[in-house]
Amino acid sequence: MTSKKENQLILAVDDTPNILKAIQYILTKAGYPVITARDGDEAFILIRKERPALVISDIMMPGLDGYELCSRLRSKEATSLIPFIFLSAKDTVDDRIKGIQTGADAYLTKPFHRDELLALVETVLTRHRIYIEQTMKDGLTALPNRAYLFKTLDNEMARARRYRRDLSVVMLDIDHFKSVNDTYGHLFGDKVLINLAGTLSKEVRRQDILGRYGGEEFLIILPETTGDAAAALMERCRRKIADIPYDDGSGSSPVSVTISAGIAEFNTDDHSIEDLIGRADRALYRAKENGRDQVVVG
Ligand SMILES: [Mg+2]
Repeated sequence: MTSKKENQLILAVDDTPNILKAIQYILTKAGYPVITARDGDEAFILIRKERPALVISDIMMPGLDGYELCSRLRSKEATSLIPFIFLSAKDTVDDRIKGIQTGADAYLTKPFHRDELLALVETVLTRHRIYIEQTMKDGLTALPNRAYLFKTLDNEMARARRYRRDLSVVMLDIDHFKSVNDTYGHLFGDKVLINLAGTLSKEVRRQDILGRYGGEEFLIILPETTGDAAAALMERCRRKIADIPYDDGSGSSPVSVTISAGIAEFNTDDHSIEDLIGRADRALYRAKENGRDQVVVG
């Protein structure tokens, strides 16, 4: 996932309008997009809808207070890891302890200093990103794994919906991979997977997210990209990959592999990542049925 500030949406929660404005001003000036909520209930709804990268929350608020908001997020799988900072006037040691025990990453008291808030925000976001990158990596190819792809696609879909941006996903796999393994052995199959991962990594653009979906399947998330543009990119990848000669070590002529790819462009009828991935998957199935070694837009 990208670490650019402009892609890291921050949710600020406080029932005092002036404080909310101050936080919003500071973060916006530092380059972060910011959304706001006046209490825990409103925040909870926004978090589910917008998937912010970080929550900065007051504690004392009407309705759902900050402690309750934090523990509710921590108890749900989809939001259990979301970075969370308390920013509160409650400044006793017991308050801070309770805040940290609730599951906050940091506790800052009011009145706060702008630079301290920004330093905390940056550190918490960076550490979270490193943690996610290290734990969500595929062992063989070192690409992001399926869990990372799901999480990232969920975020990207929320972003595409919020800003009405293009977004496409590609599901691709190696044609007849089972027979590649059966004929040349699994070590050779691994070599093909590693090589394919490397080739695709070079071909995709900086903002694209390429990961190993499982087995011989790869998923690519292409933000700001229409289905047709994704197809052009994949067509280039398909040709490059078919041209790579693999030496199976037997001394006979080199082996080549081909890929098939299915593409789905996000639309507002896609309510979950399963909807979008499902359409890419069906397009891939059609590519297989049509004879493989091709790209199909669903
Ligand atoms: Mg308050």
